Amino acid sequence: MSTSEPLRSTDRSRDAGARMKAAVLGAGVTGLVCAYRLSQAGHACDVYERWPGLGGQAATLDVGGGHLLERYYHHLFTSDRHIAALYEELGLPDELQWMPSSMAFFVDGRQWPFTTPLDLLRFGPLSPAARLRMGLAVLALQKRAREVGPFESITARAWIERRMGRAPWSKVWGPLLRGKFGERAEDISMAWLWSKLTLRRRLEGDEARQEQLGYPAHSWELLFDALRDAIVAAGGRVLVDRPAAALRRGAGGELMVEPGASGSFRRGHDPRAFPRDGAAERYDAVVATVPSDVFAGLLDDDLAAAVGSAYLGRLRAAEYHTALCLLLELDRQFSPYYWTNVADPELPFVGLVEHTNLIGPERYGGRRFLYVANYVEPGDPLLALDPDRLLQVYLPGLRRVRPDFSPHWIRARWLHREPAAQPIVTVGYHERIPPLQTGVPGLLLANTTQIYPEDRGTNYSVRLGTDAARAVLADVREGAAALRSGG
Ligand SMILES: Cc1cc2nc3c(=O)[nH]c(=O)nc-3n(C[C@H](O)[C@H](O)[C@H](O)COP(=O)(O)OP(=O)(O)OC[C@H]3O[C@@H](n4cnc5c(N)ncnc54)[C@H](O)[C@@H]3O)c2cc1C
Repeated sequence: MSTSEPLRSTDRSRDAGARMKAAVLGAGVTGLVCAYRLSQAGHACDVYERWPGLGGQAATLDVGGGHLLERYYHHLFTSDRHIAALYEELGLPDELQWMPSSMAFFVDGRQWPFTTPLDLLRFGPLSPAARLRMGLAVLALQKRAREVGPFESITARAWIERRMGRAPWSKVWGPLLRGKFGERAEDISMAWLWSKLTLRRRLEGDEARQEQLGYPAHSWELLFDALRDAIVAAGGRVLVDRPAAALRRGAGGELMVEPGASGSFRRGHDPRAFPRDGAAERYDAVVATVPSDVFAGLLDDDLAAAVGSAYLGRLRAAEYHTALCLLLELDRQFSPYYWTNVADPELPFVGLVEHTNLIGPERYGGRRFLYVANYVEPGDPLLALDPDRLLQVYLPGLRRVRPDFSPHWIRARWLHREPAAQPIVTVGYHERIPPLQTGVPGLLLANTTQIYPEDRGTNYSVRLGTDAARAVLADVREGAAALRSGG
């Protein structure tokens, strides 16, 4: 069962006998929701977070004047029902606001609007016949292809070239996938694109004419605060700037979390580099919501052996691309679109997300914000650049889109890098997904690599957090039953 609904009474039954003490590693959406669900079921939960704030990839920063903005551009789709239900459940029904979106492709030297079905018909980079064929193929997929199965063993490129022709791959889909997956674009499974086109973007009614996107009235931060408050009210702790540095088993087989020192985030992401701080704490269950490589780095030799080589192999098989995201405050509008897909491989970034074309600048006292989006392989030289040098690299590209663009328009800038931003979903991916249960009783992993076939997103992290809580309770119940029967 996979749902974000609160746990039912059977899930809540405490047949393990007592209130369980659980640790959740990571205060992103998955971790906070998991801890919230466990708290609702009557268990005490400690959340350990490496970063000095909540929200993980959806965390916000203060851009000044009391305004919070996500470090990485965020919006919701109308199909994101798990997170919408969570807002309702937390008593924040009016928080999500829905606005018309506008989208463009930058290709052949200009931005082509791509918001309405009519835009597709006018899309100059493809011949009229190719436009029609592409439109019909997408429609047929959305109407008829209800199951992911047939798309799991074929690459997106092979499927697109077969169903739409070569030009749509070389002008539209190839550059888009290269933007997210670099050299791996040719290997990306059609299952990934199927989910993007069917589950997320099946537009009905008015939305078929113009897509609506959601954004919270007070940024994503209010959701994190509400979840934290609920966890704390139930007797738990949410510890930020307090990472897990290691995981091991105690003398009685219980799980022990070794906390890392405050400021460890400055040492990067590998927990083996974090200085230890304070005594290890004992838990009945631990749910790690950290990336797969971080999880492997947390396990001591004994726990790694208990998890087993097959599971560790799945962790090692996880590949991610890094998000490199430059947020600019500009003194004027950059373009008329919220979202521009950059389908020109000569530009050194893959997207332009003009937040204040979705949420009016009046919300920010008239200020305007543009994200310059990129996904790169680990070790890409762009990752070593500071914001000013990156800006120099991006400047000619920004001028290709907006020829009169000047650095004088920039009032402020922020640069963020997220190593585990985008799991690389290749053919046969589903066979390599690590299960939630690691095989060690009470030790679970719940992270974005397990979100499938949908593309990762906060909505699915809400679902995953609930699934993880349910799996912990089942795990602990089974463990208690085994103990009772002497197993
Ligand atoms: C550029 C970009 C744009 C996106 N746009 C959207 C969007 O428009 N809409 C949308 O819904 N989603 C979007 N997403 C995706 C969404 O943000 C993520 O899928 C979601 O937030 C993942 O949540 P999570 O809790 O599973 O993982 P994370 O958010 O990665 O949380 C994991 C947490 O673990 C912490 N951690 C790591 N190591 C340790 C340790 N040793 N000890 C303790 N804690 C540790 C991390 O600091 C982090 O807080 C975007 C992501 C990116 C990068």
